[in-house]
Amino acid sequence: MIEVFKIGFLSVTLLDIVDILFVTLVFYKVYNVIRGTIASQIFYGLILVLILSFLTQAANFKALGWLLKLLSDIWVIAFVILFQPEIRRLLVHLGRNPFVRMFINKNETNIADIISEAAFELAQHQHGALMVVVRSVGIRGVVESGEIINAKLSKNLLLSIFFPRSALHDGAVIINNDIVEAVRCTLPLSIETTKDGLPLGMRHRAGIGISEQADVISVIVSEETGGISVAENGKLKTGLSKEGLRYYLANAMRTSKRNVFSTIARGFKKIFQQKKT
Ligand code: ATP
Ligand code: MG
Repeated sequence: MIEVFKIGFLSVTLLDIVDILFVTLVFYKVYNVIRGTIASQIFYGLILVLILSFLTQAANFKALGWLLKLLSDIWVIAFVILFQPEIRRLLVHLGRNPFVRMFINKNETNIADIISEAAFELAQHQHGALMVVVRSVGIRGVVESGEIINAKLSKNLLLSIFFPRSALHDGAVIINNDIVEAVRCTLPLSIETTKDGLPLGMRHRAGIGISEQADVISVIVSEETGGISVAENGKLKTGLSKEGLRYYLANAMRTSKRNVFSTIARGFKKIFQQKKT
């Protein structure tokens, strides 16, 4: 390997520089994801342990080294347990990546139409509803918290489910492609309790909560106000019209139905836009 420069006895090759750049990038990304969470404190602790074990090795402290080795032996398991929510977030983040989604095929034929029309009619009757539309990967755990029905999606099905005296109206429905996978599902609540100073009810917090943890779009119809909202990526957007909702859903679900080249072009565009913001 070509040597780039030399510090004393250390010769630095191009490979070393690339290697260090990668490690830096990984640490930077990890730091960005966990910044401001409890996990960041755990992370600092881990770094301290790493530094300490490096020092004990250098100084040849046997007993301390043994203790730290014990820690590092269980470290992978401890890591997974401690960072479970962050690892989930990271993986969901990866799944949202346009390049990954390129390989996940789905037909989005008038799913947006059906859902938006149903939501609009439910809103007119002030029937509360909570619908989780799966984008890339399913949410098996949540589906299993409810009753699995695997029924073909239709407007009347949704209207019947959320009819207030229906046995299935409570909780959320999970919609994957054109299938209603499950009803009466329990969603994780978001810790957000207000939006623009107004208190959020359970239905809205549940809709936001699942969108924080998975690649989904929650459609929420308020029983109190008849308003339609969507939550994506932990963010709630309220006061949508039927057309607004249809447009939003169609846009959010469109990935296949396009040829590979335009998808790649879109991917680049998205990445570029993310960089700018
Ligand atoms: P609305 O505007 O319709 O009143 P809201 O956000 O004020 O909505 P609540 O009035 O608290 O919410 O709505 C309660 C309903 O929300 C419950 O009947 C239930 O169907 C649904 N819900 C509450 N918590 C969850 C949850 N964790 N997962 C799924 N659905 C939930
Ligand atoms: Mg309420």
